[in-house]
Amino acid sequence: MEILSVNSDNSSYNIYIDSSLNLFTKAFEEVFSLKTKVFLITDSKVLSLHKETVKLFINKYDCKVFTIQAGEQSKNIDTINSIYEFLINNDCDRNSVLIGFGGGVVGDLTGFAAATFMRGISFINVPTTLTAQVDSSIGGKVGYNYKAVKNLIGSFYNPAFVFISTHFLKTLDSDLVLDGVGEIVKYALINSAELLEYIDKNCKSILQLEHEEILYIVKSCIKIKVNTIAQDFMDLGLRNILNFGHTVGHAVEVDSNYEVPHGKAVALGILAAIKLSERYLKLDTNIYEKVAALYKKLGLADSYKVDNYESFLYAIKHDKKNSDAINFVLLKEIGKPEIKVEVVLEDIIWALNCSIDMEEKLWE
Ligand code: NAD
Repeated sequence: MEILSVNSDNSSYNIYIDSSLNLFTKAFEEVFSLKTKVFLITDSKVLSLHKETVKLFINKYDCKVFTIQAGEQSKNIDTINSIYEFLINNDCDRNSVLIGFGGGVVGDLTGFAAATFMRGISFINVPTTLTAQVDSSIGGKVGYNYKAVKNLIGSFYNPAFVFISTHFLKTLDSDLVLDGVGEIVKYALINSAELLEYIDKNCKSILQLEHEEILYIVKSCIKIKVNTIAQDFMDLGLRNILNFGHTVGHAVEVDSNYEVPHGKAVALGILAAIKLSERYLKLDTNIYEKVAALYKKLGLADSYKVDNYESFLYAIKHDKKNSDAINFVLLKEIGKPEIKVEVVLEDIIWALNCSIDMEEKLWE
């Protein structure tokens, strides 16, 4: 097992990365007494696929379990209210701990409930999707969606610890694995040519979640995120590099009515950002071909048919990370991202046309 220590926002906590849950109890007892009241939040799909694990939690900690409906549509205030009600009805107190056992939705909701219930109680994140293991469980961002606006309500709130077991990934379908891979490619591009090479050489093993390769990838991505948030927990500057590919990616998510999931949308957004990087930061033009070839090997889409061009461009212009100018995270070279590069709309349209198959309508 590898243990990474995170120091951010005047607190520190551990991220445990292993291929099983065997050492969870040890991690738990380092922070909590066995008398601590435990409340486990999961979703319907995780519960059905990982019943045995939930039973283990119940047996070990006598914990009460609350199950939300699986999926992004649960990430709202109603679910938060139902979690509060569950906690109140079961005498949750300020010394209790919540465990979020599931993907990014469960983690973000559990973290937000913990951050706000009785002005803040402890929570443990046990992420079960690739996206949650390499991304959402790290960094302390918790929250929920307000109407159609993703993650509009939220907070920064660190967990007591994060326990990552790659064992849970075995039940993911191939689409969910590929969705996580979109973010993994992003980490490689913003941080390390070696990681990109590794992904390229080990595509098949990564997609098949081979033990050694997936553990290496998860650890590598977490280290990149931990290192970034240690320098900018509140997302005021450097942390923005983690949004590479996200401005156009977000527009793809919105335009597709979230049919294209986050990681795959980011992968498309990366292509546009690479094109813009060529124009604005003189990024080597071979990189685009290299990444497009990698997408082919991985099975990631490199084209997208826009449904509504007006709202697509609106989503890019009004991405919540942007203020007045259209700011992009771009690359000088692999591992050298630059934040807040001001980009003009004509160039964005050019980049979209030569990257993600936007077709002639965009020129109208
Ligand atoms: P998710 O939690 O909706 O999980 C996707 C699907 O996978 C769900 O149906 C879930 O039930 C299922 N699932 C979970 N674990 C499984 C397993 N082991 N086997 C099979 N199926 C499993 O979403 P996600 O893709 O994990 O994460 C996306 C969410 O994370 C979004 O809401 C996004 O906003 C959020 N996010 C947050 C951050 C952050 O910093 N907090 C970063 C990135 C993404």
